[in-house]
Amino acid sequence: MKIEIKEKINKLLDSVKLKRTEPRRTILEALLRANKPQTADEIIIAIGDESPNKVTVYRTLESLVGAGLVHRAFIDERSQRYELADKCTEHQCHPHFVCTDCGQTHCMTQVTVPMATSPPAGFVIHRQQVRLEGLCPSCGNTGNRQDNSKTVDNTPLPD
Ligand SMILES: [Zn+2]
Ligand SMILES: [Zn+2]
Ligand SMILES: [Zn+2]
Repeated sequence: MKIEIKEKINKLLDSVKLKRTEPRRTILEALLRANKPQTADEIIIAIGDESPNKVTVYRTLESLVGAGLVHRAFIDERSQRYELADKCTEHQCHPHFVCTDCGQTHCMTQVTVPMATSPPAGFVIHRQQVRLEGLCPSCGNTGNRQDNSKTVDNTPLPD
């Protein structure tokens, strides 16, 4: 583990008074390196041979979520995705773009969405998450490719 990453992770754990255990450190490192929301399975694959077992990974993720270091970026039918909470403000997670075709997710940390106001009477907003749905470049490219080939076909032959 690189020293800067190690120090950043130690600082994160210290800031919420969690013990610096090995599973917490390896999971935080995987999230830090991934830089986009990860499922528990993706985390296990990223850690490789040294990965804690699945039960430990879930339990550790829950302790990190409970401490506020990790957010559930969003939940879909397929799985939960986790990410470091350090790019979120106190009340708002950055928006996420989800490809409805292949399911890949991107953090849109540069986009700010106005915080929703006036919840129904008696409700309190703790956190706002925005999910944008559409097609990623590889899933959305089919239409463009067809258009290009049409142009090529229409090229007139020289006399
Ligand atoms: Zn967040
Ligand atoms: Zn896609
Ligand atoms: Zn994100």
